[in-house]
Amino acid sequence: MEEERLIAGEMQSEDMEIETSLRPRSLREYFGQQKVKDSLSIYISAALRRHDSLDHILLYGPPGLGKTCLAGIVAAEMGQNIRITSGPAIDRAGDLASILVKLEPGDVLFIDEIHRLSHAVEEVLYSAMEDYEIDLMTGKGPTARSMRIALPKFTLVGATTRAGQLSAPLRDRFGIIFRLEMYSPEELSQIVSRSARILNVKSDPEGLLEIARRSRGTPRIANRMLKRVRDYAQVRGDGKITREIASEGLSMLDVDELGLDRVDRTLLTTMIDKFGGGPVGLDTLAASTGEDANTIEDVYEPYLLQLGFIQRTPRGRICTAAAYEHLGRVKPASLAEMVEQGSLLDPSDED
Ligand code: ADP
Repeated sequence: MEEERLIAGEMQSEDMEIETSLRPRSLREYFGQQKVKDSLSIYISAALRRHDSLDHILLYGPPGLGKTCLAGIVAAEMGQNIRITSGPAIDRAGDLASILVKLEPGDVLFIDEIHRLSHAVEEVLYSAMEDYEIDLMTGKGPTARSMRIALPKFTLVGATTRAGQLSAPLRDRFGIIFRLEMYSPEELSQIVSRSARILNVKSDPEGLLEIARRSRGTPRIANRMLKRVRDYAQVRGDGKITREIASEGLSMLDVDELGLDRVDRTLLTTMIDKFGGGPVGLDTLAASTGEDANTIEDVYEPYLLQLGFIQRTPRGRICTAAAYEHLGRVKPASLAEMVEQGSLLDPSDED
């Protein structure tokens, strides 16, 4: 089994126990993402006033930012039930059909990792989303017949970490598309403060802000760190999370003051030491660090991009001066900079 990482945005087994209790149930309890919440509350009020269901919604952004939570909140605010499934769980068109025919009017159907649906399954989804009907094949061989089945009006909420991998016809069928942004340390502080209250953990605001600062803009990571630091506070302190306790506890877990862990640092130092700071392609970087290319792209890269530590160029990823500085290195001057500084000898000067 893969080692569970403190900073991974994806759900891990240790999260299950606390996620249910910490999951916000209403827009009021859902912190941050102000623009998304503002638009969503207008759409929800309008749909409720019309006694209609909401348009289909696509949510995209890195794991752990609150896509599943938001789908649950949409259902709750609409006063409807939610059915949850995911792209990889729907193998065949028939699997999707059996989910769709069980929907009640107004239900919210949440499909996580919607970019991983097969083409055949997607085709079924098109008519379900657009016309609220599907064509089912019954029987086999010469007796096979196509049967049209009407579906109740429902709202599909699709979530993906990869909006770019969604086929155009599927993307076009969503009336509402939201990109979830990483959270600021202040927003994450509000989130862990609510979590600390629910979990009955003693803390002071600086302690919570320290956790928030190191949690890579991601609520799931912030809650996971809160749990680890709570344990550290119980063993090494008097149970209260202070700035020192949070900072000691997280440093012990190899998370630095910006939230980078060993893998982030390996990625950056590999780019610097083996590839002169880049450009380097994703697959080459994956092969040289022994990390999975998808994990680099979904989990590590979004935060390194957000920090401005790496940049994506058409020729590959490059490491920026800020990354060198964070690692205590000096970025070598580029050829252009050397010419500008006059530190490059002009060969014609030599005798
Ligand atoms: P995703 O579906 O994007 O991977 P989730 O919706 O499962 O992420 O969120 C992970 C956890 O993070 C939730 O259980 C919840 O505790 C917390 N969380 C996410 N977004 C928020 C938010 N805006 N406010 C409060 N808690 C949040």
